[in-house]
Amino acid sequence: DGADQYCILHEADLRDYLAGVPGLATTLGGAPSAWEITEVGDGNLNLVFIVKGAQGGIAVKQALPYVRLVGESWPLPLSRAHYEFLALSRQAELAPGLVPALLHHNDTLALTAMELLEPHIIMRKGLVAGVKYPRFVDDISTFMARTLFYTSDLALSAADKKEGIAAFAGNHALCKITEDLIFTDPYRIAEQNRWTAPYLDATAASLREDLDLHVAISRLKLKFMASPEALVHGDLHTGSIMVTETETRVIDPEFAFYGPMGFDVGAVIANLLMAYFASAGHERTPGERRAFEGWVLDTVEKVWSEFLRKFLDLWRAGAAGDGYPASLFAGDNGAARLEAERQAYMQRLFADTVGFAAAKIIRRIFGLAHNIDFELIEDPQRRAISEARAVRLARMMMVETGSFPSITDITGAARKLC
Ligand code: ADP
Ligand code: MG
Ligand code: MG
Ligand code: MG
Repeated sequence: DGADQYCILHEADLRDYLAGVPGLATTLGGAPSAWEITEVGDGNLNLVFIVKGAQGGIAVKQALPYVRLVGESWPLPLSRAHYEFLALSRQAELAPGLVPALLHHNDTLALTAMELLEPHIIMRKGLVAGVKYPRFVDDISTFMARTLFYTSDLALSAADKKEGIAAFAGNHALCKITEDLIFTDPYRIAEQNRWTAPYLDATAASLREDLDLHVAISRLKLKFMASPEALVHGDLHTGSIMVTETETRVIDPEFAFYGPMGFDVGAVIANLLMAYFASAGHERTPGERRAFEGWVLDTVEKVWSEFLRKFLDLWRAGAAGDGYPASLFAGDNGAARLEAERQAYMQRLFADTVGFAAAKIIRRIFGLAHNIDFELIEDPQRRAISEARAVRLARMMMVETGSFPSITDITGAARKLC
């Protein structure tokens, strides 16, 4: 596909480029000069264009050689576009219909064209507005159960699993962002940190001196770095999910790599919990969002319980992978022991999920990248109240993970805080 050198495609170059890709030109239709091109990227890293022609529209994502949020002073490899495309391709096979259809990819330009999601909106925006999404639990639990199970040693041969790890091992610069921004910086003085000052100054200082927390976050960091359990999305927050009331699509897997499953499940749960804690800050009349808040906590519970059910169903239906060889679990006693082991595995995965969820919450309140759930609460004192509740729960989840043996222990504790 054409280009033999990377360059940032501005509107005119993009128009020419797309006109030269026959499939895309047909999808768009009409004269290229009449295509409407708008840059809509609101993420931290990349450019995203919406292109509309006489026949239809597409979305085009191009990676920049640096972090968009920070600028050219923070370089970042273009290869992330390759990993994002690879992950989207795998996810499309494993969880059909839950990612945007892929239309075109150019590794040199770090560019991917995909299905235009319309009228979908970023889920986080809907949650800030207090909108409930009835399809979400079923779709996200299917997405996670299928992408995680089928890329794990429970489903794959040892050879295929290790080929999968190798295919994503080069995405280490994106992993390093997570290792620094989520697992390290919020717990030390770092230039990029920020929080709602002065209200959270004392809490920020306490995080830097809390050695129980430092041990807990370091264990989680090591788990993130050294547990290639499955192909994880790696950035599965509510800003990476586009929704309508009837459809769910997962986007933006540029952080994908073989890592711990709980990192994805924890991301979803953390972002729902933050939507819950932020909700009080968005109400104009007291109690106005109570039904929504109830739905959010109900959704937290069901995301875990449906993920658990679907993952176990896949495992019981026939795990062809090299983990847990059937020949070692023959007969009724073997079957019973294997089932007990499945339960133990999921309990361990739940504990990972709780820890990673906590890490995801703390980074959004004290680290570099914040989220609009809290940021759009204009009054800083009110914002700090919501954030402080979220941090209280997160600290308990991280340091006393064992005292949250089930998902209702998490939602129960959240409910008690507001
Ligand atoms: P980044 O990696 O920079 O965060 P994203 O992939 O999250 O980029 O995309 C940024 C924004 O572009 C999304 O928040 C969404 O508004 C829009 N977007 C991305 N993909 C699509 C798509 N397929 N259809 C419509 N809009 C999209
Ligand atoms: Mg994004
Ligand atoms: Mg991204
Ligand atoms: Mg609330």
